[in-house]
Amino acid sequence: MANKFFYPDDYVDSILNINYERLYELGIRGLIFDIDNTIVPYNTFEIPDSILNLFENLIAKKFVICFLSNNKKKRVMHFCQLFNIHGFHTALKPTPFGFFKAVKYLNLPKSELAIIGDQIFTDVICGRLQNIYTVLVDPIVERTDFINKFKRNLERIILSKKK
Ligand SMILES: [Mg+2]
Repeated sequence: MANKFFYPDDYVDSILNINYERLYELGIRGLIFDIDNTIVPYNTFEIPDSILNLFENLIAKKFVICFLSNNKKKRVMHFCQLFNIHGFHTALKPTPFGFFKAVKYLNLPKSELAIIGDQIFTDVICGRLQNIYTVLVDPIVERTDFINKFKRNLERIILSKKK
């Protein structure tokens, strides 16, 4: 079915509630996280303690992690430094441009990778194009500009048709 292209393997409200143990059981070892509205609100430079703790736990559980963001260098590097996690900016998701850099860095086969993000039209399609495990989360903060409202409405239609 062509629409499968838009569907994630998992859809969870927050990265805090992803079943990482299950991902590990599925053989997934590398996690590629979007930044804006996935791990932090798109409009802040701060990180809640709960999110910092989550990443510490994931690294302790032997996951290899990187960030893959369409945002610019300055913002992405800010979070890379705070988390002490490697990241790639200006990724141009859903194209494979930045994705290939992330795969090279993680040095794992695609069957062991998952991509996690809040947008169907960037994160999910990027994962689907590369045939890797794909997790969609709800955006932390709703964007109010027209283009993002439009995209969000389309995403809701796609997700409602899945059920
Ligand atoms: Mg995002």
